[in-house]
Amino acid sequence: MNFSNTYLELGTHFYEKTRPSPVQKPKLILWNSKLAEQLNIPTEIGNNADVLAQYFSGNQLLPGSDPIAFAYAGHQFGSFNPQLGDGRAHLLGEVIDQSDQKWELQLKGSGPTSFSRGGDGRCAIGPAVREFIMSESMKALGVPTTQCLAVVTTGESVYREKAVPGAVVTRVASSHLRVGTFEYFAARRELDAIKTLFDYAIDKHFTEISKDQEDKYLLLLDKIIEKQIRLIVEWMRVGFIHGVMNTDNTAISGETIDFGPCAMMGVYDPKTVYSSIDHTGRYAFGNQPSIAQWNLACLAECMLLVIDENNTHSIKQVKSLITEFPNRYQQAYQKMIASKLGILSVQKGNEKFPDTFLEQLCLLKKDYTITFDLLTKSLNSDSLTSQLKTELGQTFDHWRKIVIEQSVPTEKIQTIMRRHNPVVIPRNHQIETVIRTCAETGEASSAKLFLDVLRQPYKELTQTSKYQSEPSDGDQHYKTFCGT
Ligand code: AMP
Ligand code: MG
Repeated sequence: MNFSNTYLELGTHFYEKTRPSPVQKPKLILWNSKLAEQLNIPTEIGNNADVLAQYFSGNQLLPGSDPIAFAYAGHQFGSFNPQLGDGRAHLLGEVIDQSDQKWELQLKGSGPTSFSRGGDGRCAIGPAVREFIMSESMKALGVPTTQCLAVVTTGESVYREKAVPGAVVTRVASSHLRVGTFEYFAARRELDAIKTLFDYAIDKHFTEISKDQEDKYLLLLDKIIEKQIRLIVEWMRVGFIHGVMNTDNTAISGETIDFGPCAMMGVYDPKTVYSSIDHTGRYAFGNQPSIAQWNLACLAECMLLVIDENNTHSIKQVKSLITEFPNRYQQAYQKMIASKLGILSVQKGNEKFPDTFLEQLCLLKKDYTITFDLLTKSLNSDSLTSQLKTELGQTFDHWRKIVIEQSVPTEKIQTIMRRHNPVVIPRNHQIETVIRTCAETGEASSAKLFLDVLRQPYKELTQTSKYQSEPSDGDQHYKTFCGT
């Protein structure tokens, strides 16, 4: 395994060199062998759980690794915090995978750093297992996401509301650069540092942009916006609520990052909020697109600091890229939602149908995933057709008329719908049961069974039905908490 760490070349201003703090009794409870293979982790390491536990708890450093904690700031619930940084994470370095792609490996829960701000630098088993399951599920659903390689329990307790088992989770991401990383230097008016970071981002993640181009930052912003749009559209497709879309949790690579208070929407309602600290619904399901725009505006402000003030064209363009976000997002979103409904090309007069359909779901308090799954299946099932007719009334008739009038073979429509409509998602009540079992038993067999199903979310396996049921209370009282 060959480690590099290109962040080191940026200079010590951007990070702190720091080592993970050893833990008492590391035990590997989750290992992502497919990802390990992709990352070329040698089998003599990969097949030995004890060795893996040592490496992925931070007790031993992988050869060549030179860990750092990154500096960043962030707007948290709209308020700026100039100093956050990796308070409980160690970036081990970068590895090249089988397709020559570079990935960053980071331990989380691996001990305090100079950015810990009084925190213990640790992570509880629950949030670690949640991150593993959720990211693996998102990956299988086709949503851009960071992934998890391992969860290792530490044999030590961490104190949250009570003592709970501690764990270290290994995150794999194409980038850990966040909007907040740029804001850290913008707040300090360190313009050279901001330029260094933007150039680094181009070099590492957007190689299609030439560093000599005059409008390179503009092109960069455009690409970052495109990735955010894809990300949010995908969240909206599967009903994912991130829960804490602060700028420090917004990766410029457009990968889902930080699964603290995230949840899946059950009953369709854009106002759905599960996070216990989101009192105003800032990060509600339906607000996610406008918050993404807000976060991108923060990035654009950092960018404006480093664009030559005589370059009025670029300055104007940066601003219009942000103001054009809603239109650009809407186009991508409407395409996605039409595909969920099996509408292959929107005909005149039907433009508003997807919105009307969703309004009905909200009014009738219907489950988002189940309704779209049944809709997909109804195309070749008489019994489901009559069931949905009863449940959705005229809205269903309207939908069938639109779909049938397309004169496209039903199988083709069904294939497209299935590609957009999972049969199973990581439901909140299921994930809570699994996490509780892992915390009580200190092992993860229940998580592995759940993962077997979640890794094939568009297929109906024999055991899939166990995980499809709606929560008995429609998640009315469900609350999530930040994984601190
Ligand atoms: P998060 O809510 O995980 O996005 O974290 C927000 C900020 O708090 C980041 O700077 C984290 O590094 C820091 N943080 C969260 N939990 C801890 C902890 N247990 N110890 C130290 N820092 C933490
Ligand atoms: Mg975070």
